[in-house]
This record gives sequence, structure tokens and C-alpha cells, in this order.
Amino acid sequence: MEKILTDELWISFIETAHKTNTFSNYENYYKSLVSWLKSHKETIGDDFIERYELDTILYITPKDYVLESSEYHGISLLMEKDRMFGRKPETLESLLMRIRDTLWDLITISSKKDCPVCEGELRYFLAKQENHIEKIVLECASCTWTENLDGSEWKEGIIQFYPINKAELLKNGVQI
Ligand SMILES: [Zn+2]
Repeated sequence: MEKILTDELWISFIETAHKTNTFSNYENYYKSLVSWLKSHKETIGDDFIERYELDTILYITPKDYVLESSEYHGISLLMEKDRMFGRKPETLESLLMRIRDTLWDLITISSKKDCPVCEGELRYFLAKQENHIEKIVLECASCTWTENLDGSEWKEGIIQFYPINKAELLKNGVQI
């Protein structure tokens, strides 16, 4: 079911762009988007938060995850006011996808390897399975391809993806 993005919700979102620290650095930008999502969780609805996999990234500690250089994620803080807040999307879904993609872009680390299917960018994630087993995997940013660190195809089924930061990758012997 599609949900219309009401003017009221959109205006409250735009107010984020007018707050003093929103664009001062990547960590603050991340916090601003998350803070808006949290304060409108009831209006957005838990089903939508889950559907767009926002629940996994709303409660991480930003300073441990947010990548503080645009070379990692290609996001320019000078452009975000227009890109994120400039045009009202028709549906709530579109807005949530826009926010979700940006939040993930701000925290996910590229492996600098290309996807064998579509040549897209492979990024590091922590996959958590039903039996609580956690594994570091690489997932393509453009298609659904997922592989193990040795390059073999991931076939074990994933319950949920979680972000993984530099320190955790290094601790697990992954060279980045
Ligand atoms: Zn791909």
C-alpha cells in the first residue's frame, strides 16, 4: 500500500535543512536525518521502518560508523540541501528510500571490488542469520548479488544486513 507524503510531514522534514548544524559535517547530517525519522516514527509506521530496513541503522552510534570523507561515499554536503530537501516526492515510500540510501551511503565501506554480475560496487555488510550466526559479506550496491569474503557466492540466506565499521573489519582481519 502506498502512503501519500502529507504537506505537514514534508514541511517538518524541510525544517531539518534549516537547523544550524545539519550540514556542518557528515556525522551531524546523519544524526539530523535519523533524528527526524525517530521523531516521526509513529506517523511513518513501524511497518514502513522495517520494510525500508531503517530499523537496523537508527540505533547505531554515528561516530563509530559515519565516514567523514566524501571520497568514500560521493556525497557532497553542499549539494544535499537541494538533493535531499529540494523536491517533494509524491509518496512517503520515495522519501524513505531517498533517506535510507543516503544513510547507508554515509556508513558503508566499499571493498573497491566490482560485482561479477553488473560491475557495480561491492560493499561490506554484516549478515545476521536466524541462528544468530554473523558473517561479513560483500553486497552489490546496484543488484542483489552477495558474496563471501573469498569471492564465492553467498547462498545461506540472509535475515538482515547490518552495517560494519572500519574497526570491526580490521578486527576480523579484513584489509581495507
Ligand atoms: Zn551487481
